[in-house]
Amino acid sequence: MLSCGLPLRCVGPACPSGCLSCRFPLCGRSCHRRGVAAIVSDKLLQWYDAHARDLPWRARPAEPAPEPYRVWLSEVMLQQTTVAAVKPYFEAFTLRWPTVEQLAAAPEEDVMAAWAGLGYYSRARNLVKAARAVAELGAFPDTEEGLRELPGLGAYTAAAVAAIAFGRRAVVVDANVERVVTRLFNLTDPLPGVRKAIRTCADTITPEERAGDFAQAMMDLGSSICTAREPKCLLCPLANDCRARAEGDPAALPVKAPKKAKPVRQGRAFWLEHDGSVWLVRRDGKGMLGGMRALPDDGWSARGDGADNYPVDGAWQPLGLVRHTFTHFTIELSVERLFVDAPPPGAGLWWPTATIDEAGLPTLFAKAARLALA
Ligand code: SF4
Repeated sequence: MLSCGLPLRCVGPACPSGCLSCRFPLCGRSCHRRGVAAIVSDKLLQWYDAHARDLPWRARPAEPAPEPYRVWLSEVMLQQTTVAAVKPYFEAFTLRWPTVEQLAAAPEEDVMAAWAGLGYYSRARNLVKAARAVAELGAFPDTEEGLRELPGLGAYTAAAVAAIAFGRRAVVVDANVERVVTRLFNLTDPLPGVRKAIRTCADTITPEERAGDFAQAMMDLGSSICTAREPKCLLCPLANDCRARAEGDPAALPVKAPKKAKPVRQGRAFWLEHDGSVWLVRRDGKGMLGGMRALPDDGWSARGDGADNYPVDGAWQPLGLVRHTFTHFTIELSVERLFVDAPPPGAGLWWPTATIDEAGLPTLFAKAARLALA
């Protein structure tokens, strides 16, 4: 087993390796490391058996593993998003496309529209590509390496699917696990530089058996006990093994490098209305929010403000501003309205304003629509 070189506190006589001489935190003996690691994973799995969260994509401890399709879909949806936000999307997707083959056969624009509101839309495009690759292969690859070959599957998702759906030993590190591990090992260097040490430490405590349950247990511990602001150390099954609790300040970890201020871009969104309908376009497939339905705009992007160009001349009426923050910038969008008799130049369609909620607009344009219809 690998070692991060940052040993846990000695557990003394309880050490199952029988290494009673390892009273010193820095003894570094492999029997010590193995013993402590086994104790940590055993305690965590016992806690998980009693306290695992009930989630629609999960199997209960000791039940057969969930289908890889459900694990993969949930893990893609959960990136950068909360469990509460994901649940209705997961239920809607699995109701509409119960198998990966059905998702693979769906038109991309339907999947994009169903994804609207979850953000990070490149994930939805990759979801379709990966589903089609799996359908062509006939099944999900059952190893981390095989899963990494699928479009859009990064190290985290491949490890999570390999461990949870296929029972492979894999080191699964999401934001919750990062938090638990930095505290458990009192890793005080700032993110993102400390990630390598986090991974090495997580590796030392990942068991050979039940690696999927272990990963989910770490996630659950991070979300319910080892929380960002006020960790509930008195309820924690790992309290006696936690270096930050013994020596440091758990709530101060992980240390984050100071964030750079995000640039603020200015742009316009155009609400062209005709006979109870609004003109919608489909955004360029390669750019920001690519492939999504949207209001026409003046060409703003992450790199610059809009160009002030209107789709048609007329007495445009400013309706107000909407503000939305993306990963790298914030956009302030002036929403302007014009009633017209004919469609503007270029491709698009009239969408009834009464059913605008069903158009699959991404959050920014959904906000603009709410403003226009207020
Ligand atoms: S003892 Fe506290 S800080 Fe340490 S892992 Fe448990 S909840 Fe987190």
